[in-house]
Amino acid sequence: MTPWLAATVVGTRALTAASRTLVLAVPGFQGARPGQHVDVRLTAPDGYQASRSYSLAATGTDERVELAVAAVPDGEVSPYLVEVARPGDVMEVRGPLGGYFVWDPADPSPVLLVAGGSGVVPLVAMLRARAAAGSGTPFLLVLSVRTRADVMFADELSDPGDGVTVRRVVTREADGDRPAGRLGAADLDATGFGPDDAPAVFVCGPTGFVEHAATMLTGLGHPAARVRTERFGGTS
Ligand SMILES: Cc1cc2nc3c(=O)[nH]c(=O)nc-3n(C[C@H](O)[C@H](O)[C@H](O)COP(=O)(O)OP(=O)(O)OC[C@H]3O[C@@H](n4cnc5c(N)ncnc54)[C@H](O)[C@@H]3O)c2cc1C
Repeated sequence: MTPWLAATVVGTRALTAASRTLVLAVPGFQGARPGQHVDVRLTAPDGYQASRSYSLAATGTDERVELAVAAVPDGEVSPYLVEVARPGDVMEVRGPLGGYFVWDPADPSPVLLVAGGSGVVPLVAMLRARAAAGSGTPFLLVLSVRTRADVMFADELSDPGDGVTVRRVVTREADGDRPAGRLGAADLDATGFGPDDAPAVFVCGPTGFVEHAATMLTGLGHPAARVRTERFGGTS
């Protein structure tokens, strides 16, 4: 069993009105592969404990863990991480966890990333790993958000690097020529990333979003075995 490690908050940075990054110093943390997650455990003064899973926004071996958390209204853990936790606070981390939802930088296949909301977090780790590896593998990120202001890592994604395309899908307001609306098949159709191009596909976000996107992708002809999914919970 992977042990729990003491984790000290060393930095926070707002990403949107309802999300932020937390950087934790975790002595003994061994680094991770892009797409993996950790479990985070909080302990209240009375001993009550709560743990939740969070994807790693960055992979590395310097005993630092970077998380990016979106507050779920009325949630038990995420509002604390987004609004309350501050440098010096101590929590626990266990991981890295998960070996399936992982991009291998040695895989030359094009990569189609599909995110709903905070589902972008492990996909940002993949984009960062691509840059760190000096990889020229073509990537397309299709990112669905409610409003334009809800894009996490907006600065980074506005300049994602050569060979990386970011396509924004805004569901609750018009965005340029695209009217408001849910992710549709046309949003996933792109030269170089169709079924004939055999991309590796990673879909991540709230459970309902992931099921909707994965159904559409297999309907478009992507083999189910090429479509890897990570469900964050919730229904929308
Ligand atoms: C492998 C994995 C990786 C994850 N990575 C991230 C990440 O990088 N960033 C991040 O912000 N979250 C991530 N999550 C989601 C996270 O684990 C929590 O579920 C989320 O922060 C809500 O926890 P909570 O205690 O605030 O809400 P809870 O008190 O557990 O739930 C409150 C209510 O919100 C609903 N709910 C729970 N989770 C969600 C959700 N994700 N979306 C919408 N409604 C929800 C519940 O059904 C419930 O009705 C990940 C989940 C998994 C399984």
